[in-house]
Amino acid sequence: MSNKNFCVKVYGCQMNVYDADRVRTVLCSRGWNEVPESEADVIMITGCSVRAKAEQKVWSELGLYDSSWKKTQRPLVALTGCIAQRIGLNALNRFPYVRLVAGPRHIGFLPDAIEQIFTHPKSRINLLDDDPREFYGLNFDPGNITIKRENKYKAYVTIAHGCDNFCTYCIVPYVRGRFVSRKPEDVIDECRMLIADGVKEITLLGQNVNSYGKDIGLNFAGLLERVAGLEGIRRVRFVTSLPQDFTEDIANVMAGNETICPSLNLPVQSGSTRILRLMNRKYTRDEYINKVRMIRGKIPGLGLTTDLIVGFPGETEEDFDESMSLLREVRFDLVHSAAYSERDGTPAAKMEGALPVEVRLERLNRFNALQDSITLEINEALTGQTFEVLADDFAPKGEGLLQGRTPSDKVVIFEGDESILGQFVKVRIKSAEAWCLHGELV
Ligand code: SF4
Repeated sequence: MSNKNFCVKVYGCQMNVYDADRVRTVLCSRGWNEVPESEADVIMITGCSVRAKAEQKVWSELGLYDSSWKKTQRPLVALTGCIAQRIGLNALNRFPYVRLVAGPRHIGFLPDAIEQIFTHPKSRINLLDDDPREFYGLNFDPGNITIKRENKYKAYVTIAHGCDNFCTYCIVPYVRGRFVSRKPEDVIDECRMLIADGVKEITLLGQNVNSYGKDIGLNFAGLLERVAGLEGIRRVRFVTSLPQDFTEDIANVMAGNETICPSLNLPVQSGSTRILRLMNRKYTRDEYINKVRMIRGKIPGLGLTTDLIVGFPGETEEDFDESMSLLREVRFDLVHSAAYSERDGTPAAKMEGALPVEVRLERLNRFNALQDSITLEINEALTGQTFEVLADDFAPKGEGLLQGRTPSDKVVIFEGDESILGQFVKVRIKSAEAWCLHGELV
């Protein structure tokens, strides 16, 4: 192997995208070339293990390199992210071309490790934690270089890693480790660098951003206010929030800063207090609804989305009805719904009362049908209104169409040419679907 050619494949959440961007930036700064997959000498696969489906995808992806390896002894594969923490050892033993496995806490070592497997192709590197729930130093600051990003105008900034909440269905605390906040100066410096590079919208990222600072004597409301006040910033968002940690202070900071978008993802996970207890979520249905009322009272026009699991072990038809009635009562803008899927090693996987997969899917269909009709009603009511939209990309389908988001995070498709990409434009809504709005420039 003579060229230092690599490609990155991401199967996961925004955290994986963010980590992959940092690694590709450092590799490029060291003379590596990012190339199409067919030309790559090293393929970095990074992925998320939260859903069983993503894990299955990565297994089949790994198998695809078998025939090429047998013929040409290339490419080498590096498996990273929380998926590696979960399946890395098996992958290392099963595929001769998987030469590096690294859990999410080792992101900072990846550029060196990738160079190592490339220059010493027989080496096999294991950067997995024996117990990722233990603290491990993790900040990966690539220094004073501009991070390569897929989108020029929007960027994610991680503010914390890991999670201490141990919801019974969730694998995250076991693969991403204990909750650790980044230093506020590091977050602010990174935001400043992005703004100087033309970024208009920053999304602060963490498994539970509302817990930010609890380990270093700070709080999220304070950090959010600092980021919102940075010179040159136009829009700030954050994801994901845990209902019990979302304080009135945070709502006040959102309400008091024009740059913070009126949009919020507040995962509820179930409408039944009994199921919430089994999930180890530390709020009741009523407490959740009251919190939403408090937030909506302070932030008019709030775009509210949630995550909800259908078919958790022991979920009765009555519990499910409570999730359905929650949709009618709260009227979320959008719900990221999923049928429960067992994750080995979590307490829920051992619980009694597992529902047949057909029951989970049948409930999910009913659930989605109801929510789709609510989303459509909410979106149709926006017809005729005008919003400020950041034109951030070409629309995936259709010549001459651009896309962007309203402050409340609705996707809008409208006619426009390349010259307005990166600009804030006024768009009047002409029609609505459940997944997007269609508009025209005014
Ligand atoms: S808050 Fe719960 S669901 Fe979210 S990452 Fe932590 S353990 Fe998982």
